[in-house]
Amino acid sequence: STPTIAIVGRPNVGKSAIFNRMVGRRIAIVHDQPGVTRDRLSAPCRLTDYACHVMDTGGIGSDLEDGFTEQVAREADMALASADLIMFVVDSRDHLTPVDISIAERLRRAEVPVLLVLNKADHEKQDLNLGEFAGLGFKDEIFLSAAHGRGFHDLTQYLNGYL
Ligand code: GDP
Ligand code: MG
Repeated sequence: STPTIAIVGRPNVGKSAIFNRMVGRRIAIVHDQPGVTRDRLSAPCRLTDYACHVMDTGGIGSDLEDGFTEQVAREADMALASADLIMFVVDSRDHLTPVDISIAERLRRAEVPVLLVLNKADHEKQDLNLGEFAGLGFKDEIFLSAAHGRGFHDLTQYLNGYL
């Protein structure tokens, strides 16, 4: 069957913005504020040489709510169970958060490749800012700007190497 790429990460890191660029349409709602509930979305990826689907997860709950971490953990587990490749998205302009760390702990068990995506790298100088995210221990990382489209060529090459 068609391989699936899952996009995982805490709310507001830009998962839906990345998803929309990967599918070439504004299917997912990009929220200015975290905490808006919606369903999971899956659509054909238009970037890769071979057919695959990309799945946008999460965006449910808010940092302030109890149960939020549990919800994000459930999304990560769902990705682990069903995806052939996982894109773990963090905000390169922000610090590593406890939620990022708990997602990373789950994803380290993955038997499929996990690509660390440092989103919101809108400017070239941010590409050097791996900083504390390096400590998460993922071997492959990529800087993206879903807002400006930077890094999507590199993302495409990475994905083509695994499909
Ligand atoms: P999600 O909750 O992870 O799905 O995040 P969204 O895709 O809804 O984006 C959350 C916020 O971050 C929105 O205000 C987006 O416009 C913004 N955003 C997403 N990607 C980027 C990016 O590459 N650069 C900047 N500056 N903002 C971004
Ligand atoms: Mg979203």
